[in-house]
Amino acid sequence: MPRYLSNINLRKLSGKTCLLRVDLNIEPGEEKNAYRVDVVLPTIKLLLKNKIKVVILSHRGRPVLKSTQLLKGLKSDWDFNKINRRLSLKSFVPLLTRKLGISLCFIPYEHSWLLDPKKFISQRKERLFLFENLRFYRGEETNDWRLAKFLANWGDFYINDAFAVSHRNNASLTAITKYLPSYAGLLMEKEIRNLDKVMKNYKRPFTIILGGAKISDKIGVIKYFWNKADYFLIGGGPANTFFAAQGLPVGDSLINRSMLESPTSKILSSFNVRKSDFPKLILPVDVKIGDNKILDIGERTIEEYNKIIKKSKTIIWNGPMGMFEKKGFAKGTKKITQAICQLADKNKKAQIVIGGGETTAAFQAARGVIPRQVCVGPRLFISTGGGAMLEYLSGKKLPGITSLAGVRG
Ligand code: ADP
Ligand code: MG
Repeated sequence: MPRYLSNINLRKLSGKTCLLRVDLNIEPGEEKNAYRVDVVLPTIKLLLKNKIKVVILSHRGRPVLKSTQLLKGLKSDWDFNKINRRLSLKSFVPLLTRKLGISLCFIPYEHSWLLDPKKFISQRKERLFLFENLRFYRGEETNDWRLAKFLANWGDFYINDAFAVSHRNNASLTAITKYLPSYAGLLMEKEIRNLDKVMKNYKRPFTIILGGAKISDKIGVIKYFWNKADYFLIGGGPANTFFAAQGLPVGDSLINRSMLESPTSKILSSFNVRKSDFPKLILPVDVKIGDNKILDIGERTIEEYNKIIKKSKTIIWNGPMGMFEKKGFAKGTKKITQAICQLADKNKKAQIVIGGGETTAAFQAARGVIPRQVCVGPRLFISTGGGAMLEYLSGKKLPGITSLAGVRG
């Protein structure tokens, strides 16, 4: 179990500087509407309120070619000119300043090497700092201890509030915890508590809804919950892949071909039996087709899925039911969203977890609102994690979370 920020005596830390890892991995230009920004504000506010200075750390996109990461040395032969500076975090300065109502000091890449961190922070009038995109630095993605040590100089303790990237073994998530007392932030705590609830204290009927693009990401969740859940409602690419595995014609539909050939096909073929043997795994009974592709679930399927959602007490949803971005193929996802929202509103016993980048976007579009917090009402939790959530829900240990335990505070 990680140490939670909410459990520590913050007054003891007043006057100190916190290195806060968050997830600001948002496309340039889309900062303003980003749900990811709003959900990390509570931790920042709590720290500032307790007179703790905050240095915000995040990565954004892929500013450097992967192969460049393999060069040796932390800085010397790192060609800064090859970095895509469009992915600088500087564009968050006005937004964070406005949302938090205090001024913020940005630390550019070049300066970060020249400054004496402790001296610099104590001399500045600002209490909030934003570090440049961590992937501008060599060693972030290779979990390099030298980068971790360099970053650790900027704070007295460390908080991870970036659940969505905690499945990665990166310097600012894992190696850094070797150098500083480390804690889980408020958002991280919400993620862990809500996901643990559906993993350990779920109520039945328990329904898992899986759609989206790749079935390979989701197989772990199916395996983990196979003996726990009552229904798996399948849509999107995973449904197509199951159809293909059963030898049904799928035209040019999106399928995971590798899943049909790799050893994992064993799992698929174990599901690839008569429906009566596996009543839990529910595939669409009708579909909508465009351009010779299966692009959404059909009307009868919507009806059948909604009936099951209505009687469920626990629901996990990842992956849109169809290609909802394309006109005419959003209905399945929209209807599922509505059924889930109705359940959240009506059934006091319901517990619902939704996650995934596109799933959250589709959910917001269908509902016509942009949730500003992870808990939309007491029964509906929107995870900030896509891959991280799926790995967590597959029972895997996430390096960014396990590294928060056992560090002296
Ligand atoms: P998330 O980001 O929520 O984890 P995924 O990344 O797995 O979800 O998948 C989302 C994408 O899957 C969407 O862009 C959607 O258009 C696509 N998708 C869903 N169903 C289909 C389909 N039947 N055919 C093609 N693409 C689909
Ligand atoms: Mg996605």
